[in-house]
Amino acid sequence: MSNERGRLFILSAPSGTGKTTLARRLVQLVPNLSLSRSYTSRSIREGERDGVDYNYVTAERFLAMREAGGFLEWAEVFGRFYGTAVADTERRLAAGEDLVLVIDVQGAAKVRERGVPFVGIFVLPPSFEVLEARLRQRSRDPEEQIRCRLETARREIEALADYDYVVINDEVERAVDCLRAIVLAERARRDAMARKVEEIVRSFQ
Ligand code: 5GP
Repeated sequence: MSNERGRLFILSAPSGTGKTTLARRLVQLVPNLSLSRSYTSRSIREGERDGVDYNYVTAERFLAMREAGGFLEWAEVFGRFYGTAVADTERRLAAGEDLVLVIDVQGAAKVRERGVPFVGIFVLPPSFEVLEARLRQRSRDPEEQIRCRLETARREIEALADYDYVVINDEVERAVDCLRAIVLAERARRDAMARKVEEIVRSFQ
């Protein structure tokens, strides 16, 4: 395990863009990079597991944690609460682990307001039409909910300018390649390499 503090990557995208699939694939490919597990008050969906996809809690428990300052960020998305626990994040970053948070644009804005440094990556679908088609294909959601997700997507896209990188999810493997390149480039930044660089430069003297 490294002595350097880990880096925080925030991945945001409109619902239906496929960001969770990309993030899961990314952490499989890149060593010392893992996914943060959020808390949510929404109910568990078929195929999901408590403690794996999310920590599922009641709205009361969520609000109590929030009251106690337990969240680095939190947001209400489609009427349910979602949040990233401060303690989990801090423990992993302090241990030198790089961490990916898959959170919505409201959450990313809160982390920014707190002055916590992170690399922001926005994932875009190839077009609005493709997003609409994907939402209809994948979900059993009623029409009204699909409309609501599309309207939310329109608003979320406006936050794009606050992010450092953009990845277009036109093809999963290509998009994952881009994400991997971003993580590796961030790891190679001179400031991130300071300690190692100092050691090597000293060996020249
Ligand atoms: P879903 O219910 O489909 O899993 O997620 C709905 C939305 O909530 C997605 O946009 C997802 O990125 C966002 N989300 C999941 N976890 C968190 C979190 O901890 N904080 C915030 N702000 N958003 C989250």
